[in-house]
Amino acid sequence: MNRAEIQNALSALQTRPTKSLGQNFLQDEETAAWIVGQLDLSPTDHLVEVGPGLGALTEFAVPKCGSATLIEKDGRLAGYLQESFRDHPNVEILHQDALEYDLRELFPRGPAKVLGNLPYYVSSQVLLAFTAEPSPVGKLVFTLQKEMAERLSAKPSTKDYGAITLIVGRRWKVDYIRTIPGSAFLPAPNVESGVIALTPRDPAELPDCDARLFNRLVKEGFSQRRKMLRKMLAHHELDWSALCTALGIEETVRGEALSLRQWVDLTRYVEAAKDPETFNAKAQDVHGERFDVVDDENRVIAQASRHEVHTQKLRHRSVHIFVFNKRGDLFLQKRSRFKDANPGRWDSSAAGHVNAGADYLETAERELGEELGVSAPLTLIGTHPAGPKTGWEFVQIFRTEHDGPFHWPRAEIESGLFFPIPLLERWTAARPQDFSNSFLSSFQVWKESR
Ligand code: SAM
Repeated sequence: MNRAEIQNALSALQTRPTKSLGQNFLQDEETAAWIVGQLDLSPTDHLVEVGPGLGALTEFAVPKCGSATLIEKDGRLAGYLQESFRDHPNVEILHQDALEYDLRELFPRGPAKVLGNLPYYVSSQVLLAFTAEPSPVGKLVFTLQKEMAERLSAKPSTKDYGAITLIVGRRWKVDYIRTIPGSAFLPAPNVESGVIALTPRDPAELPDCDARLFNRLVKEGFSQRRKMLRKMLAHHELDWSALCTALGIEETVRGEALSLRQWVDLTRYVEAAKDPETFNAKAQDVHGERFDVVDDENRVIAQASRHEVHTQKLRHRSVHIFVFNKRGDLFLQKRSRFKDANPGRWDSSAAGHVNAGADYLETAERELGEELGVSAPLTLIGTHPAGPKTGWEFVQIFRTEHDGPFHWPRAEIESGLFFPIPLLERWTAARPQDFSNSFLSSFQVWKESR
């Protein structure tokens, strides 16, 4: 959209740009096309645009993607977009505050691409919401106040480097790609803008750490920039000299001097010092496990190792547990990317094999404790006979109610979330490849038992 088109659209709507909504409309079409180009949209992509306004970016983005969700808080502009895109059934326009948008809606569509020339007053909250874990987003391109864009892409020991650099940077690679002058917008803001691109960081790039503790330590460490980290973290009662020796840092160091990797190492150190038992708990030693082997009527006939059971396709037993919250949403775990079976896929709230000599219920109780760190009364809701679909397992499926919070072993589980059932029904139908097969068959059994 050029300047005249924006002015015409605003006068047809009998409105003016609203300052409190951060309305600065992009009037430079070349820049708009360039920004959209940074998202690498393809016809299979689902696009989400935050604050589309009058559609300056949208008009270039929609022809390149398969479908789009546009989230605009201003009702007049949302109405205008509705009219502009009425011939595009794959474009949905939500008249909504982007901070209230339920990102879980995106999971059934596959990794979404997110675009936004963000209203400055709310840009950091939007950024944190759209990059929060677990994220259904594959790439983001945001235009922000230049200062904010510089903070997100800052290097250690610079004035821009701070808590938000690290909190976002731990999971996302942030590239500052271009500065845009105020004159590209109508009305022109009195500051420049910066365009950044965010792509997920390869999980193997950094050692794994407790995300909540990392965010907390970083916020504490930067709450007074001029002070030494030792003082800012004193209440954790750490052996500071030992910590500095282990991490190879100076005892007088300030938070701003530590790299992302050093902040991750610091978090791991604090975690290990506070709770060595949990920290050292490795992935279960699955190789030593032995299971009961059963016949086609689920009667025990022998025992065998995990390896034998799986390579020889011997019938054995397992449990799946579905944990619902008070709203009736089902908690799913996302399996660690480092697991040998179904890495990175979504799975039942908890699940596991029945060990030799054990029964189903005691196994379910044990798995609930080991995988989610809780105990709750379990009810049997169904069974699934052994066959190729279940990996030759006779499965018993249990349900329980619990609102969390849950604590999971990170070697096993990357993250977890409650999902409404209608959303899960759409997601499992659209993208079965996102789930373990045994969850899909257990979910079917549960649906039939309702
Ligand atoms: N994308 C358009 C462009 O480039 O011309 C408009 C950008 S303007 C900087 C920000 C847009 O975000 C405005 O249309 C404004 O109404 C909208 N907006 C403001 N706060 C919002 C919020 N909380 N959720 C969604 N949209 C919001």
